[in-house]
Amino acid sequence: MAHGHHKEQTSEQPKAIIDPVCNKVVEVDEGYGKLHDGELYRFCSKECLDKFDVDPVKYVTKTDATGALK
Ligand SMILES: [Zn+2]
Repeated sequence: MAHGHHKEQTSEQPKAIIDPVCNKVVEVDEGYGKLHDGELYRFCSKECLDKFDVDPVKYVTKTDATGALK
């Protein structure tokens, strides 16, 4: 049986990601991850993830160069 404990390359520095819901810094190895619109977001807690799930658009503020809101 495969153990599947894959050792990852450490050449890439793990980057902390900002939780878009509460703006807390979430380390890559903690919290919850969610792939939305091709981007990976991280959340400090299930609560934040749930909030995001309800209304992602509210939290995903793409800084558009044009500033045009659809
Ligand atoms: Zn949070």
